[in-house]
Amino acid sequence: MGTLRKCSRTACSRPAVTTLTYVYADSTAVLGPLATYAEPHCYDLCSEHSERLTVPRGWEVIRLAPDPESLRPSADDLEALANAVREAARPRDAAPEPPAELGRRGHLRVLRNPDNS
Ligand SMILES: [Zn+2]
Repeated sequence: MGTLRKCSRTACSRPAVTTLTYVYADSTAVLGPLATYAEPHCYDLCSEHSERLTVPRGWEVIRLAPDPESLRPSADDLEALANAVREAARPRDAAPEPPAELGRRGHLRVLRNPDNS
């Protein structure tokens, strides 16, 4: 226990939901998902203080919306995984040959249909 991160603002004890990172070189404050570990110039903020965030004059604020989709594999990832599994299961010599070129008509090429061979 004791790992629950709290808002870094004085006199605020709400749980932190975002991490504010000051990028001094770019005069930019980046407000993003809670960082997995504390870094210098990073401040954990609760939702309320995230909303009320103010930055020094001339600074920019970049808010990174939390992406719930990033927490679980997307459909694309699952499809890529399935394709990779199928690819690995396929014998190497079964790869389809490129269709043979039978002739040309003008700028069009006539290709043999592999299904009719
Ligand atoms: Zn707070």
